[in-house]
Amino acid sequence: MYVRTIFGRKKPEELGITYIHEHLYTNPPRWVKEQDPDLILDDILCSIREAKTFKKAGGKTIVDMTAVDYGRNIEILRSIAKAAEINVIAATGFNKGLFFDKWVYEAEEKDLIEWMITEITEGIEATDSKAGIIKVGSGYNKISHVEEKVIRAASKAHLETGAPIGAHTEAGTMALEQLEIMEKEGVDLNKVIIAHADRNIDLWYFKQIAKKGAYIEFDGPSKIKYYPDSMRVDAIIKLVKAGYEDKILISGDMARKSYLEAYGGGPGFRFIIQKFIPRLKMQFDEEGLNPDIVDKFITLNPQCALTFK
Ligand SMILES: [Zn+2]
Repeated sequence: MYVRTIFGRKKPEELGITYIHEHLYTNPPRWVKEQDPDLILDDILCSIREAKTFKKAGGKTIVDMTAVDYGRNIEILRSIAKAAEINVIAATGFNKGLFFDKWVYEAEEKDLIEWMITEITEGIEATDSKAGIIKVGSGYNKISHVEEKVIRAASKAHLETGAPIGAHTEAGTMALEQLEIMEKEGVDLNKVIIAHADRNIDLWYFKQIAKKGAYIEFDGPSKIKYYPDSMRVDAIIKLVKAGYEDKILISGDMARKSYLEAYGGGPGFRFIIQKFIPRLKMQFDEEGLNPDIVDKFITLNPQCALTFK
């Protein structure tokens, strides 16, 4: 039983408090940067400061879900992890199709599988840092041909390596269709995390995801621009009451300067540990639920999700 950080294997329980979906460093495609420079996180000192705030709040592990098409930089991740003294888990695979490089469109499925397996078993970009999760993704209400090719390739790389899969969904759509493709490829859906699930705050939909065994990632806490946190809390309470407490993950996906304190924004990495988790516990208590369950969403559940099969 092990998880894979960029500095080697660890026992799942060694991860401690874990954010399953964040971005420590990004360098998005040029057209994205021009449209929305807020998405660029490229000041290493700021990223280190933010990671140190996370550590000071009690955090221990960050899964950096930045794919190669969004500027993943393994050397920089290594520097940040060292300087802030946290575990970092890196992702292989790709984002949604909109961000794919030309080579992904042109590649054969077998080339994509081989590339992912190399990153998981040998190392990323000529370092000995290996990937600990495979990213896939799809667009809004649609899975394109090339996205499906990547999902199939990731499924096969998962079968070969046991690495977990983290699936980007656009506004929470197409999660069930992604799972269907993976299921047909033979993936153990208990090793699949549905990212941005809470953008589509639909309890019935969450239950279908959890019934299949996959994890529901709530990565929108504090993003009131979408809707208030009360709706997230409500959905989490209902999921726990329905018996799905083992399938809930909480992270921030704070991939904007304006979300991170070290870059001049807020509420920053410490928000979930210091504000959202205590609030959840308070509301669990009010509902007659054991508040200790809440800790699982940032400890035991991510540790299980990240364990290689
Ligand atoms: Zn993200």
